[in-house]
Amino acid sequence: MVCSECGATAAAMKTGFWIAEGDAAEEWPMCEDCFGEVVDEVFIVPGPVACWGRCSGCLEWFSVRDLVDVKAGAGGRGDAPGGTCRACHEIELGRCAM
Ligand SMILES: [Zn+2]
Ligand SMILES: [Zn+2]
Repeated sequence: MVCSECGATAAAMKTGFWIAEGDAAEEWPMCEDCFGEVVDEVFIVPGPVACWGRCSGCLEWFSVRDLVDVKAGAGGRGDAPGGTCRACHEIELGRCAM
């Protein structure tokens, strides 16, 4: 896939559209760098990964395969699943061990 903003290529990219454009919004792929700059202005469409879920720790989106304890509807946007990403999960484990 090719980033619509900077032209970077990657095997998988987030796909999103501008929330402000509403129903007329077009979907396009974006690399992590460009997406990070407009994260508050775009809505992420489920992309090349089967399903996206939101980490309740860092609020990033991950493939549900990368989330621990996935729960339907816990993502905070519509029916998006939520869970804990591996990085946050390990932090939590670390806290428990201390
Ligand atoms: Zn880019
Ligand atoms: Zn996380």
